[in-house]
Amino acid sequence: MAIASVNPATGETLEEFAELGEREIEARVARSDEVFRAHRRDSYDVRAAAMRRAADLLDAEKSDVAAVMTAEMGKTLAAAEAEVAKCARLCRFYAERAAGFLADEPADAGAVGARRAYVRYEPLGPVLAVMPWNFPLWQAMRFAAPALMAGNTGLLKHASNVPRTALYMGELFTRAGFPEGAFQTLLIGSKLVERVLSDPRVVAATLTGSEGAGRSIAAIAGRELKKTVLELGGSDPFLVLPSADIEAAAKTATKARTQNNGQSCIAAKRFIVHTDVYDAFAEAFTAHMAALRVGDPTAEGTDVGPLAQEQGVLDVSAQVEDAKAKGARVLCGGERPAGPGWYYPPTVVAELTPSMRMYREEVFGPVAGLYRVADLDEAIDLANATPFGLGANAWTQDEAEQERCAAELAAGAVFVNGMVTSYPELPFGGIKTSGYGRELAREGIREFCNAKTVWVGGA
Ligand code: NAP
Repeated sequence: MAIASVNPATGETLEEFAELGEREIEARVARSDEVFRAHRRDSYDVRAAAMRRAADLLDAEKSDVAAVMTAEMGKTLAAAEAEVAKCARLCRFYAERAAGFLADEPADAGAVGARRAYVRYEPLGPVLAVMPWNFPLWQAMRFAAPALMAGNTGLLKHASNVPRTALYMGELFTRAGFPEGAFQTLLIGSKLVERVLSDPRVVAATLTGSEGAGRSIAAIAGRELKKTVLELGGSDPFLVLPSADIEAAAKTATKARTQNNGQSCIAAKRFIVHTDVYDAFAEAFTAHMAALRVGDPTAEGTDVGPLAQEQGVLDVSAQVEDAKAKGARVLCGGERPAGPGWYYPPTVVAELTPSMRMYREEVFGPVAGLYRVADLDEAIDLANATPFGLGANAWTQDEAEQERCAAELAAGAVFVNGMVTSYPELPFGGIKTSGYGRELAREGIREFCNAKTVWVGGA
């Protein structure tokens, strides 16, 4: 795949970039390793000052960065600006909290026959981050901010269709005051990931992306015995039970399915509705989905822009056509519009059966699958009948049902009467084929640290 900025609203190529050659890759990896030796010794205060400056730069440059993201991958300008603001908040969060999250932890010295025993958290070294285009700044920042605050260095291999955002990220931290080379962008395609990850100086990797990329990176890391964090796909369920506020659930469901033009790992994708409220929910949800304004992502008032890549719109279209051909019922949308750009309308598909691709695959576009169930047991069974386990949404006012959903939905997160989203303060990650490891919060910053046991004996 070429490394290029292509505008999804028009299909026009904005800029193409040459892939780095071996000498440039070698120089960057060597720099990352060298800088690590000094950066790891910097105090948290020094790192935090630079991280706060990165946040200030993001705030000051918000509109420009947002425009770059919208031009490269089609999210609406409002969504892009919100993403930049969220990144600034994440930088400040880790600037503030890293020292506490990684402070020495005293252990029970008496129990282990020591005068003093504790756990200290140390950085590991250069970490490779392979990132997706869907939240091009936020996904990369979820790695960068904690990694740099912990004292690691970072090498970013971003998705090939967001090179301008990748280059911005590559300069941001140096401009903010981190040592030059502490965080670098590598403009390389996916074939060169193995070259970098198998380099002995690169100690670990994190990937956010598809299951296929996860399997490939995990295989390389397995062979090399390197730590990985994998944030992969999802097909999150959205349960609606009889006591739910149906109008609020339908409104939130619409946002949960269509945010980021439907291209979010934690988008709700399967809407599993109790038969007593199925018709009411289906009607309200379909009305909200059909009312969304689809169009130019730079225009004010646009709710849903184009999909980021031509392949994306072809994939989504094929999944819907497959369901239609096998007897599913389309309640709204379901036809790719004519004209330029990679648009697909908000779509609701009902009466899905296990033979249909939509039933078992992730749909990475604004297409909702609607399912009718007889009771909570069936709802939970269907919710869990997927290889994925990223997030889960449940709508019910009944506290016993809320507890059951929290306990029995097989996912990395359960959000009740809301929609799954990420916060700096809460750990984020999946189970099953949605990956392993956690980002954000205390858990995220500890992923690329050595929890070193220190035992001190003697008088
Ligand atoms: P993708 O094709 O896997 O691409 C993601 C990144 O991995 C890109 O940088 C890509 O590079 C690279 N890559 C692809 N195949 C690779 C391979 N075999 N070896 C090494 N690197 C490889 O994913 P996508 O389709 O763009 O992104 C959508 C997927 O990401 C969805 O499944 C979505 O659910 C998931 N996602 C998960 C999370 C989460 O936090 N769990 C968040 C966002 C998205 P190139 O661009 O050069 O191919």
